[in-house]
Amino acid sequence: PEHGYYASTNPVGKKGDFITAPEISQMFGELIAVWCMQTWQNIASPNPVQIAELGPGRGTLMHDFLRAAKSNPQFSKAIKIKLIETSPSLTKEQKTTLAADADNIDWLTTIDQLNPLPTIFIANEFLDALPFRQFVKTKGSWLEHCIGIDENNELSFVLSPTGIDLQRLPPGHETQPEGTIFETAPPREAITANIATHIKTHGGATLFIDYGHKTSAFGNTFQAVQSHKTISPLTNPGQSDLTSHVDFQAIINAAKQNGVHADKLATQMDFLLALGILERAGHLGREKTPRQQAQIQTDVERLVSPDQMGTLFKVLCLIEPGRETAPSGG
Ligand code: SAH
Repeated sequence: PEHGYYASTNPVGKKGDFITAPEISQMFGELIAVWCMQTWQNIASPNPVQIAELGPGRGTLMHDFLRAAKSNPQFSKAIKIKLIETSPSLTKEQKTTLAADADNIDWLTTIDQLNPLPTIFIANEFLDALPFRQFVKTKGSWLEHCIGIDENNELSFVLSPTGIDLQRLPPGHETQPEGTIFETAPPREAITANIATHIKTHGGATLFIDYGHKTSAFGNTFQAVQSHKTISPLTNPGQSDLTSHVDFQAIINAAKQNGVHADKLATQMDFLLALGILERAGHLGREKTPRQQAQIQTDVERLVSPDQMGTLFKVLCLIEPGRETAPSGG
């Protein structure tokens, strides 16, 4: 609670450890608002509706969302903003960024504190920040990869005798070579189940955006990033951002098991193009200087191009049974 990474650092932004899509361009939060407005209409425009953002970082996405939402006065009047955040320092930053809209925003620390109302959940780079576990194929069994102290009193990777239920492994584990790693993230699945239950019971939808893979697979995606550079996870513990890629198949299973519909997984590229990022960029660039226009183009490329964020990042939309989300490119 005191020394943890999110509790004690300012992770997001140029001066932090990593940059996220809302920090690249205002268009990201604006287009998410467009998706939410259309999805809200598709679920019969409930009033009130909660917009719950999980892990809102610096509050930038919500700032751009609220400005864009003003284009639809009915939607703007219906929304109750709930920001779900555990980090005290980021909560403080969100309060500064969103000071003008503070009357309509509540800060919560868990989704259990939401009201029993229709809710549209938004989560950008939230799932990857939740804890995960690794198992390593060792002499035919799969043992948990843990961090311990070696004979020189340094942090090192060690194996625990704890194994994994073989039924949780993807097909073909028998033929994987020694040392192969498999990752699971029970807290990500648990929170998805919780969100799905909320949507099933009270109505609503979810937009998850994160880096990850479509199908459960073997491989080591554990990554530590500090000051925009990848470092060993054992260097500077508590001061680097630790993540792994999201296994969207596991997320989709957790959602479906709890009674909601999951759209086909889309790439961030398809999602932003479907929502009209090119038209929005053209509009934003009107009457701007050539330099500003070039910056807008660079930002669009960073968000959608396949060699940048466009295809590594995926978009998963969940919706209450019997309804459809706004087009998501999936
Ligand atoms: N969505 C933001 C920030 C992503 S970083 C953006 O796109 O810029 C991850 C965010 O999740 C941070 O705000 C972090 O404090 C928050 N977070 C991490 N674990 C959390 C948890 N268990 N519950 C709520 N928020 C959490």
